[in-house]
Amino acid sequence: MPIGEFELIERYFTRPVRRAALGIGDDCALLVPAPGMQLAVSSDMLLEGRHFLSTVEPERLGHKALAVNLSDLAACGARPLAFSLALALPQAEAGFLEGFAAGLFALADRHGCELVGGDTTRGPLAVCISVFGEVPAGAALLRSGARAGDDLYVSGTLGDARLALEVFRGRVALEGTAFERVRRAMEQPEPRLALGLALRGVASSAIDVSDGLLGDLRHILQRSGVGATVEVDAVPRSAVLAAQAPGLQRLCTLAGGDDYELLFSAPGSPATAVAAAAAEAGVAVTRIGRIEQAAGLRLVDADGRAVADGFGSFDHFRASP
Ligand code: ADP
Ligand code: MG
Repeated sequence: MPIGEFELIERYFTRPVRRAALGIGDDCALLVPAPGMQLAVSSDMLLEGRHFLSTVEPERLGHKALAVNLSDLAACGARPLAFSLALALPQAEAGFLEGFAAGLFALADRHGCELVGGDTTRGPLAVCISVFGEVPAGAALLRSGARAGDDLYVSGTLGDARLALEVFRGRVALEGTAFERVRRAMEQPEPRLALGLALRGVASSAIDVSDGLLGDLRHILQRSGVGATVEVDAVPRSAVLAAQAPGLQRLCTLAGGDDYELLFSAPGSPATAVAAAAAEAGVAVTRIGRIEQAAGLRLVDADGRAVADGFGSFDHFRASP
C-alpha cells in the first residue's frame, strides 16, 4: 500500500512546536511575534532541473531548500522563527522523504526555526518554502541604505557553486576533494544568520548573493540611488577556484550565483565595527570596493585599471530555458 498524503505529512514533517502557538494540523498555523518586533517574510522555490540537479542527495536538497530561505532572513538581519513547506513529489518514496526531512530539520534545528505548515501535492519535484523571522521594528537591514563613502564588503568566498555547476556541465574538469568541496558549496550553502544579526546597526545596506555578485550589487545601487567601484581581484575566492584560469575565476566570483554570502555596505570609519561583527559571527568578511555618488558600477583590477563589465546576472526570463 503506498503511503497517503496525510500519513506522509504526519510521518515525515509533523513535529511538536515550541514557539508557535499552533503548528501543523489545522487550516492555519499561529505565530506569536514578540512585542516590538516586525515579522520578516520571504519565499523561495526550488525546481528540479532549474535550481537543482536530479543527482543531488535528498538530504542536501532538504538543507538547501531551507538554506536559501534563511539566507534572505540573514540579509535582513532577522532571527528565524518558523517556516512552511509546499512540496510537489512525483511519488511518496520513503528513502527520498527520510533523507529530505533529515537535511531539512538538521538545519532548521540549528537555527531554532520550526516547521508550522505547508502543502503536499503530486507533481514534478518542486520545493517551495516560506520563512518567517523577527527583527526589532526599524532595525531590518535593507537594500536602500547605502551612502556615498561607505565601504563594500562580502562574507566568505564567492564562486565555488558556479564552478561546481561548470563541472556538472562538463565545461571544467575537477576531481576528488576539490570537486567535493565546490559541490558542497553548491548543494549545502550555509546561511549567514549570525553575521546578519551582528550587522544590525553596523551595515547601511545588505543583500544575499543569489544571482551573482554584480547583479545583486546593482539591486543595492538602484535601491540606494548610488554607484560603486568594485576591485574585482579583491573578491575573495577559495583555493580551488584560485587555481582555475583567470577568466573563469572572474566569471564565477562576479556573476556565479548561488553563493548565499552577504554583500553589504558600511560607513568607512570606524571599520572596526565591521571587523567586530565578523568576529562575533565567526565569518570572514572582505572589503571589495566603495559606494560612490556617481551612478553606475565601475570595475577595476588590482592596479586600478578599468575592467570591462560583461558580467550579466542570472534572470529566469532572459536566460535560455
Ligand atoms: P488545507 O486543506 O487546509 O490546505 P492540508 O490538508 O493541505 O490543509 O494540510 C493539512 C495540514 O498539514 C495543514 O496544517 C498543513 O499546513 C499541513 N501540511 C501539509 N503539507 C505539509 C508539508 N509538506 N509540510 C508541513 N506541513 C504540511
Ligand atoms: Mg484548510
